Amino acid sequence: MKPDETIMTVEQAAEMFKVPVLTLREWIFNGRLPVIHSGRNVMIARGALETLLVGTCELCGERFRRPNLRARFCSTKCRQRAHRLKSE
Ligand SMILES: [Zn+2]
Repeated sequence: MKPDETIMTVEQAAEMFKVPVLTLREWIFNGRLPVIHSGRNVMIARGALETLLVGTCELCGERFRRPNLRARFCSTKCRQRAHRLKSE
């Protein structure tokens, strides 16, 4: 699938993906999220953000939309199961 090249402002991206503007600015600052300069505006390509937000669950291998970059499991159920497996 071709990545979505639609560009949007940080504010639009935050709204669309329900991610705090501050979080997006942090990702841009530390280079995780590439930006496109359009005149005086800093724009984000939708596809780049989508890629960053999709993770693979460490337990079931399911692809999921991460609420933050530290999320490792697709659901609370998987996280709890992983914990249980580790302690057995
Ligand atoms: Zn899972």
